[in-house]
Amino acid sequence: MARYTGPRCKLCRREGVKLFLKGQRCLSNKCAVERRPTPPGMRARGRRRRQTPYGMQLREKQRIRRSYGLLEGQFYNFYKRAERAKGITGHNLLILLDTRLDSVLLRAGFVATRAQARQYVLHGHVAVNGRKVNIPSFRVKAQDKVAIRENSSVAPQVKFRLERIQPQPVEWLEIDLKRLEICVNRLPKREDITLPFNEQLVVELYSR
Ligand code: SF4
Repeated sequence: MARYTGPRCKLCRREGVKLFLKGQRCLSNKCAVERRPTPPGMRARGRRRRQTPYGMQLREKQRIRRSYGLLEGQFYNFYKRAERAKGITGHNLLILLDTRLDSVLLRAGFVATRAQARQYVLHGHVAVNGRKVNIPSFRVKAQDKVAIRENSSVAPQVKFRLERIQPQPVEWLEIDLKRLEICVNRLPKREDITLPFNEQLVVELYSR
């Protein structure tokens, strides 16, 4: 599936926030948002724009879309699915995005970046309920078991990473460090998604 392959730090600078697209580098003082906290491009320097309500909605949509590494059409499809589901559309949207297989691997700390999660999945290193899944957008359900496949060449890397970083507990996920397995105890709620997004602005944008 198509994906963005351009410079990632530029996206953070454009949004004016850290989107954490480059793993360890994002936590170091090499982060471009810290070194050059201006939007990319010559003309943007020193120029302060007044944001219209439309501008704010657009920026929030781009921020969420880019932090989940999706293209416009893919993001819109998620929005449409969220709209059709029962409940609050904005909440549904974030829950749908967070229950993607690549998101689950990232939340559990198995990988440093979403790009790495996608690569592991695409290269067949990940299984769900014992069966290989090579679709990063695969949606996990409650009680699913996501694991790095036995004898996978990336298993030592994941193990090393988990020992080093000691992942933060995620309430809806249970992590078995020995078996490199993630059990999805339940689907996340809006309050489980701690990223600072205002999803209501996205709903307003698409309802215009
Ligand atoms: Fe964004 Fe990470 Fe680049 Fe910083 S280092 S600008 S957080 S991708």
